[in-house]
Amino acid sequence: MTTQAQFESRWLAYARKVMTVPCGCECDRDTSWPGYIGKDYELGRVLLVGAIHNAPVLRNSGIFEILPDIDAFKRSPPGEQDHTYLRIVRNAYLAAIPKWATYPNIDVNGNKRLITNTVWARMLSLISMFQVPLEQIAFTNLAKCALPSKSRWPIEKARIKKHETVTPLSALINDLEPRYVLIAKECSGLPELLKLPSAPPIPRYCNNMTFTSESEFFMTWKRNDAATYLRDRDGC
Ligand SMILES: [Zn+2]
Repeated sequence: MTTQAQFESRWLAYARKVMTVPCGCECDRDTSWPGYIGKDYELGRVLLVGAIHNAPVLRNSGIFEILPDIDAFKRSPPGEQDHTYLRIVRNAYLAAIPKWATYPNIDVNGNKRLITNTVWARMLSLISMFQVPLEQIAFTNLAKCALPSKSRWPIEKARIKKHETVTPLSALINDLEPRYVLIAKECSGLPELLKLPSAPPIPRYCNNMTFTSESEFFMTWKRNDAATYLRDRDGC
């Protein structure tokens, strides 16, 4: 059985690759974000996958404060800064995720309102039903850079396509051996682009609070998937 240390070692190789191998899009000139692996990932093994960061929401979460630490990790020989990097990234993501799930926004009339229908709100409600804390998940985006929230899908898809050539999701799934994969995106051509293996776990695609790609209600499939997941995990 794969241990937490082995999962972390594979994750670190993935993170280093995301941050150092040129992908051909804007994040080569800025910072790319591999994501996060929880300190108890081996217990839950749930992999959550977003499409791409929302640029202003990313910046406002305060996560840019760890950029000097990320740079130190990138410059260090493999192994030297691993534990420090994992600790700093974990703290930063655990602090930022609630700010990505709910955040204030100014509407067209200049009124401040709280945005709650977010990808992270859905992810948090899902793992809550799975009885899996954030410490037991891993999270990554298909494209590791950031775009404004109103970006058009063709632009997003072009970014995803470039990142898939360097760090394909199928390889990460192979490394992390997740019991469950949620891809929080549902757009035409995405499954064909990702070329994921047809063996379990079959990823769920969901970009909508109400329906999944199978046209089921979010509440229904979430409950059904949680029951299956808990039965498999706990062996009863
Ligand atoms: Zn890129």
